[in-house]
Amino acid sequence: METNNSKVLLIYTGGTIGMIKDYQTGALRAFEFDNLYKRIPELSHLDCEISVHSFEKVIDSSDMNISHWERIAQSIEENYQEYDGFVVLHGSDTMGYSASALSFMLENLSKPVIFTGSQLPIGDLRTDARENLITSIRLASLKENEQPVIKEVCLYFEYKLYRGNRTTKIDAENFQAFDSPNYPTLAESGVHLKVH
Ligand code: ASP
Repeated sequence: METNNSKVLLIYTGGTIGMIKDYQTGALRAFEFDNLYKRIPELSHLDCEISVHSFEKVIDSSDMNISHWERIAQSIEENYQEYDGFVVLHGSDTMGYSASALSFMLENLSKPVIFTGSQLPIGDLRTDARENLITSIRLASLKENEQPVIKEVCLYFEYKLYRGNRTTKIDAENFQAFDSPNYPTLAESGVHLKVH
């Protein structure tokens, strides 16, 4: 599997993953995804090109509604030819519902759409956001014989890739926040990335 020259579009909708803590005031503010490479220089080692589309008004996922789902689907449709894969950054509370909805809205997908989020803000010292973000981008950029390896709507969280419409949030505190009780994981991230 290779990632060479893949182009990935990040669609940032909001949620904890996009927050950064101002250590002087203790307040959380939105992370500037437009300066992604400056903030997370390790991304440049991924060997793929990343662009960011951000919702004009980023939201807590408890405010997600059908018009937001339409906006995510529209971004993917409008950019479908130009990119090899899509990563949707989303609050974890309703991410399972959005991943389900999008899996039915985006018929006949031949490219990956990977939802991810985090339990701690990306700017937190102990954050799970970096791993979730970096591995989601890697999964979205995987190709074999020039073809995407993953061709469906998925959800990646804490080292596991799940089928999007089989996930449920099971924990508000643990990093292992999601499960897929009725369907096996699609990929696992350890020392090696194993796609089943
Ligand atoms: N309340 C947040 C949200 O779902 C929690 C999170 O991002 O994990 O938007």
